[in-house]
Amino acid sequence: MAAQGVTGDLLCLIIDLNPAAWAQSGQPGPLAGDSLSLEQALDHALVFCNAHLALRHENQLAVFAAAPGLSRQLFSSHLSPTTASTSAASDSNIYQQFRIVDERVTQGVKDLMRELPDDPPTGANLVGALSMALCHINRLNATDAFASSAASRKARPRIVVLSVTQDSSAQYVPIMNCIFTAQKNNIEIDVCKVFGPDAVFLQQACHLTSGAYFKLERRAALLQYLLVGFLPGAAAHKNLMQPRQEHVDLRAACFCHRRIVDIGYVCSVCLSIFCSPLPVCSTCRTKFPMSTLKRLGFGAAPGGGGGGGAGLARPKKRKAPPGGAAGARASPAPGVAGAGTGGGASARGTPAPAAGAATGGGAQAG
Ligand SMILES: [Zn+2]
Ligand SMILES: [Zn+2]
Repeated sequence: MAAQGVTGDLLCLIIDLNPAAWAQSGQPGPLAGDSLSLEQALDHALVFCNAHLALRHENQLAVFAAAPGLSRQLFSSHLSPTTASTSAASDSNIYQQFRIVDERVTQGVKDLMRELPDDPPTGANLVGALSMALCHINRLNATDAFASSAASRKARPRIVVLSVTQDSSAQYVPIMNCIFTAQKNNIEIDVCKVFGPDAVFLQQACHLTSGAYFKLERRAALLQYLLVGFLPGAAAHKNLMQPRQEHVDLRAACFCHRRIVDIGYVCSVCLSIFCSPLPVCSTCRTKFPMSTLKRLGFGAAPGGGGGGGAGLARPKKRKAPPGGAAGARASPAPGVAGAGTGGGASARGTPAPAAGAATGGGAQAG
């Protein structure tokens, strides 16, 4: 069936392997009989992977693990050695491709769990796994070596994340970079939230890449959710009603404390987000005028004073900073001033912090 020009889907599955979260998930939940241990979840995920491979001959698969503090590629259709080298005993009762996937992923998870320290850090290195998946996709799409045969012609990539942990706000900048990369390359990110509180940044990932974010009501039925909601590829999506969330949490994390903030202060030069007005931007070292800082409630409790619409500052004439020789200094609104002076490395002093709800990665600053 490998007709000319037919491309398959490249499914990149990222499995969150936080041991503590999976241990909790294995405990019975409020709904009767609702529990899902890591072993069960892996079985479900492997059936899902095999179903994807069985859908069409051209489909490809890559599996990544995101554990606390490390991430790893567990399987790839492209990088796996030949069938003979995986296991001595070949089982005639199972399709060889399925067996390779099952063995590799199971063994990879076991190895990874063994390597984790006794007291692993919280969360999971989702950024590492996401970056690996994006690099893997880029590598396959960039080189023609892989596309030699018709079966392995460039596949349409997509990423599915099985998440059990809350995302750590310390990873805000790298994860947003991953999301924007995926968005630019038209790679959908779908998130299946198996267990735990909602992940703010993953919601944004789905929202920005037009993927689906779905939180399971019954995690014991993971396989059914995966098969119904996440198996169809991008080509089938437009004809299907996928489960989607109605409300997206678009909050950002401040760069100073890595806290998720409702109202943030955006540096008008570099678009860094802060939870309170600062005299000097910690990212680009821009100094802000005291008059603006006072107007924003500088010195008051964080988030207390300057919240209500202080960002819509009136165009106000400010004193030109000493040594600022450049002409265009009769600054209009702070945001505009920031955009103007941002280009020249030497120009500093004029910009003022623009307050406002820092949503969508601080894009509102301009
Ligand atoms: Zn902060
Ligand atoms: Zn800055």
